[in-house]
Amino acid sequence: MTAQLIDGNALARQIRAEVAGRTQALKARGVEPALAIILVGDDPASQVYVKHKVNDSSETGLTAKLERYGADLAEAELLERIDALNKDPSVHGILVQLPLPKHMDSHKVIEAISPAKDVDGFHVASAGALMVGQPGFWPCTPHGCLRMLDSIGYELRGRHAVVIGRSNIVGKPMAMMLLGRSATVTICHSATADLGAMTRQADVIVAAVGRQNLVTADMVKPGAVVIDVGMNRNAEGKLCGDVDFDGVKEVAGWITPVPGGVGPMTRAMLLVNTIEAAERATA
Ligand code: NAP
Repeated sequence: MTAQLIDGNALARQIRAEVAGRTQALKARGVEPALAIILVGDDPASQVYVKHKVNDSSETGLTAKLERYGADLAEAELLERIDALNKDPSVHGILVQLPLPKHMDSHKVIEAISPAKDVDGFHVASAGALMVGQPGFWPCTPHGCLRMLDSIGYELRGRHAVVIGRSNIVGKPMAMMLLGRSATVTICHSATADLGAMTRQADVIVAAVGRQNLVTADMVKPGAVVIDVGMNRNAEGKLCGDVDFDGVKEVAGWITPVPGGVGPMTRAMLLVNTIEAAERATA
C-alpha cells in the first residue's frame, strides 16, 4: 500500500483563506481583530516563530502587535504588561512566546493571560474547558491534527487512536479531542513498556515525541492514519518527524509529511483562535 498524503500546506492555505474572510466580515462591522505577541529575550528559534506568526497574521488581514523585551525584563513588569493587554479592548488575542528566560515562571505568566484572550490555549482554564467539553481555546497543534483528520472525512467514532507523548500542549489535549469525538484513546509515553504492541492496534497514530524514526513500518496496522507531530533534525540537518516516512507510507492508509504537515497547520490554527477570540469579544 502507498499511503495518501495529508497535505498540511494545502489545508493551511484553505484555513487562512477562511480566516481572511472572517477578518473582512469583522472589519466591515468596524472591528480590527488584533493579536498581541510578546517576545522576551533573543532565542533564535523563538525569533523565527514570532516572525512567522506576524507574517501569517498580516497576510490574513489580522493586526499583529509585536512587543519585544530584553532577556532581563522583570517578571513583575511582564505581568503588568499582560494585565494592561487583558484590559485593552483593541487586543483580542495574547500570545507569550515560550520559552521565557529562566528567571521567569512560565506557568505564572501564562495564567496571567485572560482566558478570553488565550489564543495559544495553554491556560489552565482552556485545558479545563477542553476537558469538560465547554467552549474555550484549543491548543493549536492538536487542533490542527484534528482538522487534518476532518479534512479526509475520517470518522473517529469507535476507532482506536494511539497518541504517543503526553505533554500539556500536544499529547494530552490531543487525547481529549479524540475522546471528544468518541474514539477509544490510548496515551503512550516514555514508560510505555511495548510501544509497538500499542500502535499495532491503532486506527490512528499521533506521534508527538521528538525522536526521529520512533514509529517504523512494523509498528503500523495496514491502512492506519499516521499523524506526525515530531520536529527533529536528521544527520544531514534536515527537518524530519518521529515517523519513518518512507517505510510507514508503504503500510499506512494516510500519512502527514514533515515538513509540510502539522507545522503549517499549527500556524493556521493560531489564526483561527485569534479570529474566534475577536468574534466572541465583539458578538
Ligand atoms: P515533550 O514535552 O518533550 O514531550 C515528549 C513526550 O514524548 C513525553 O510525554 C515523553 O514521555 C514522550 N516520550 C519520550 N520518549 C519516548 C519514547 N521512547 N516512547 C514513547 N514516548 C516517549 O514534547 P512536546 O512539546 O509535546 O513536542 C513533541 C514533539 O512535537 C517535538 O518534536 C516538538 O518539536 C514537536 N512539536 C511540533 C509542533 C508543530 O507545530 N509541528 C508543535 C509542538 C511540538 P514522558 O512524559 O514519560 O517523558
